[in-house]
Amino acid sequence: MANEKTHTEQHEFKAEVKQLLNILVHSLYTHKEIFLRELISNASDALDKLRFESNRGTKIVDNELPLEIAISLDNKNNTITIEDTGIGLTRDELIANIGTIAKSGSADFIKQLAENKQSADNIIGKFGVGFYSVFMVASEVEIISKSFKEDSAAIHWKSDGLGSYEIEELEDAKKRGTKIIIHLKEEEKEFTEKYRIESTIKKHSNFINFPIKVENEQINKVSAIWREPKTSVTKEQYNEFYKFLTYDNDEPLDIIHRSVDAPIQFNTLLFIPSRNMDMFGFNREDYGLDLYVRRVLIQHQNKELLPEYLSFIKGVVDSEDLPLNISRETLQENIIFTKISQSVTAQVLSHLDKMAKDEKEKFGKFWKEHNRIFKLGYSDYANREKYAELLRFNSSECKETTDFTSLAEYAERMKKDQKEIYYISGTNRASVEVNPHLEIFKNKGIEVLYLFDPLDEFALNSLMKYKDYEMKSVDQADLSNLDKFENIEKNEEKAEELSKDDSLHFDSLMSKIKEILGDRVKEVRISKRLQDSPACLVNPDGSMSATMQKIMQTMSKDSSIPQKILEVNRDHNLMRNLLKVYKSNPTDEYITNVAEQLYESSLLMEGYLTDPHKLVNRINDLLNKSSDWYTKLKDM
Ligand code: ADP
Ligand code: MG
Repeated sequence: MANEKTHTEQHEFKAEVKQLLNILVHSLYTHKEIFLRELISNASDALDKLRFESNRGTKIVDNELPLEIAISLDNKNNTITIEDTGIGLTRDELIANIGTIAKSGSADFIKQLAENKQSADNIIGKFGVGFYSVFMVASEVEIISKSFKEDSAAIHWKSDGLGSYEIEELEDAKKRGTKIIIHLKEEEKEFTEKYRIESTIKKHSNFINFPIKVENEQINKVSAIWREPKTSVTKEQYNEFYKFLTYDNDEPLDIIHRSVDAPIQFNTLLFIPSRNMDMFGFNREDYGLDLYVRRVLIQHQNKELLPEYLSFIKGVVDSEDLPLNISRETLQENIIFTKISQSVTAQVLSHLDKMAKDEKEKFGKFWKEHNRIFKLGYSDYANREKYAELLRFNSSECKETTDFTSLAEYAERMKKDQKEIYYISGTNRASVEVNPHLEIFKNKGIEVLYLFDPLDEFALNSLMKYKDYEMKSVDQADLSNLDKFENIEKNEEKAEELSKDDSLHFDSLMSKIKEILGDRVKEVRISKRLQDSPACLVNPDGSMSATMQKIMQTMSKDSSIPQKILEVNRDHNLMRNLLKVYKSNPTDEYITNVAEQLYESSLLMEGYLTDPHKLVNRINDLLNKSSDWYTKLKDM
């Protein structure tokens, strides 16, 4: 140093600092590059503070200096120099801030080490250890700093990080700000390579809102656009940032950019990708929002800011109020963090709601891509009302299988006095529409939601109600609730009323069918729901819907066939003919064949029939017999 020194003082580090330094110097920590992130973050803080002082009109030394961070590399002398034009430090501030640990984060770090006797390796990454991390790579560090305050002298600080530091005042004029000269350990020479420094900056500090220059070349091209007013950010900038964040080559489907001021101050810049990035596939862990505190990245892909069902959202949350050195472990217990997380969730839900209302086509794309993950939101009790509004289903009112309706739209179309929302599950529209359970609803013109995804039923079941309307599977609906609605097709010829006598015969026919099917059915009874089909199976009252039952069985690897009720359509031509057969010979083999066939056909419809051999043989036999009848009838 060519400076004339006034006087040099020797200071001991405080005990906890010594302890921390000892750990850092001796740790085998592999991500040593983070020292750069920490020093840049400190420089950025110092620049932020300066900007604040300047904004509030404080008189500032060297006011004309540009606000920036400059890094120079010297591989001959094996040094890195990081220089900022921030607020700088006075002598007393330097002793207070660098000689002791004021922040709880660092104290926590030491406490953890002491209590758990963990190796530094395991926990170092979880704490912001800040300035001292430079001693992971440095054999000696010099700080030359000059405060923004008028009449404060420049100071020179020097330490090998072993136990003490030297401090002296410099006589000659220095410019405002802080310069840190890092004398690298021999084995850390790689940090004098420009590409190494550049890539580290791009990885950890790219969105620092001040220029970071390495050998006079600005590295961080993208600014913290989430902190800028919406009006000043172009579509291109949004897209560029989105690409940087996600590596997705497509443009995002939508952007949510918000600045919240009260009660907690934070900015969000969120993106809805235009394609589902396969959260169920290989990239299971590749989700979460980047959490920044005052432009400094605290955690990449934080998984708690948004609930799992919104994990398709990408983006950044930047808080003003969280402490910079907050540990990731305690984040969730932090009340500010919790409030931010609730607020971000609400932002996303209300944005989607608005999209559903104002941009139907866009919402349709969102639903098509992200519905599967979104449906998991049935567990978000606090937001269930908003969640319910966003659900979409195909329904009997839709023209195409790709169309959908909301519960609100369903409710609007409901019949006067209808108290329930009806749904039916199936693999596709064609299979649902031939389901016998649907017949009575079709007949009365009551809309039924078509659920093609097993998650749909979980979603509806856990909601239980939409507004005051209960969710009911068509096979569980209390059909007496439908009595009040008239049939829309009245012209259909009604089957003739059975005489009292025949009624009794029909009852014993049903007993006969029960006898044939035995314990395979719980009961055989006359159906109120059937119109076109001769028979169907229903669950005994109060138990779950057929689909739910099926899902539960699959989950418990239960392949048994549940005992159900066989409902028969007394007005159906087949049943009337069967009655005739029964009356002439109650033990006719034909009755057995028909009963077996009706039962197995219903099983087939519900997906329970595993062995179709008997069924196919029986059909062939019946076809064979009917061919005789047909040729006779047509006189062939
Ligand atoms: P933290 O950043 O969490 O406060 P650090 O160990 O990183 O912890 O830094 C300790 C303190 O040293 C800072 O709070 C700040 O007061 C001071 N400091 C560090 N670097 C700079 C700098 N470049 N300019 C001004 N002050 C600095
Ligand atoms: Mg710091």
